[in-house]
Amino acid sequence: MSDGQRILISEIFHSIQGESSFAGWPCAFIRLAGCGHGCNYCDTTYAEKDGVPMTVPEIVEKALAFGAPCVEVTGGEPLLQDGVYSLLEALCNRCEQVLLETGGFLPVHDVDPRVRIILDVKAPSSGVSAENCLENLPLALRSPDRFEFKFVLASREDYLWSKEFIFSHRLAGTCTIIFGAVFGVLEPQLLATWILEDRLPVRMQLQLHKYIWNPDTRGV
Ligand code: SF4
Repeated sequence: MSDGQRILISEIFHSIQGESSFAGWPCAFIRLAGCGHGCNYCDTTYAEKDGVPMTVPEIVEKALAFGAPCVEVTGGEPLLQDGVYSLLEALCNRCEQVLLETGGFLPVHDVDPRVRIILDVKAPSSGVSAENCLENLPLALRSPDRFEFKFVLASREDYLWSKEFIFSHRLAGTCTIIFGAVFGVLEPQLLATWILEDRLPVRMQLQLHKYIWNPDTRGV
């Protein structure tokens, strides 16, 4: 939760971007504390607690000190804290490439238009697919260059559901679409085979940081 101009921060760190079309780039990450959606495969449950209150200038200075070509605001669920909007604006004023990664449950209308939004669409295995915020879709279709849709899949059922979703909502061929596999649950080779068989217009991605470092390592 925000405290006036302060934002609760779980961690700020320097790593390799691992989960979008920016995968592979050095990136400064700002992880906001708090979420509560309870996705079954959540790998950042530690961000639910122990947040440290920081002002926007403090956060910006710490993140930009890494000198990375991009900065990503993530969580937890970053859009739960009101201060995130002024943080994103301040980052855009100082950095060419600002990314926002959100769980996709909340509207993104008030996000600075200079931000590239990586928006999760939760498939059935997440346990929360009924909570996807569909009102974000028309905005994405009007400004496709601002959006990437990320599906993290744990099963064949997830894959088929996601395939139906991208076509029924006209995202296929319009926005960047990322299909990834839940680490240690869905074999990447299987997912690759399905994508190729169906000739889907999606980018497959693995959680790069989990291959570079131990998958349980924090702050990478
Ligand atoms: S939205 Fe993200 S941070 Fe929140 S529970 Fe789901 S995976 Fe975890």
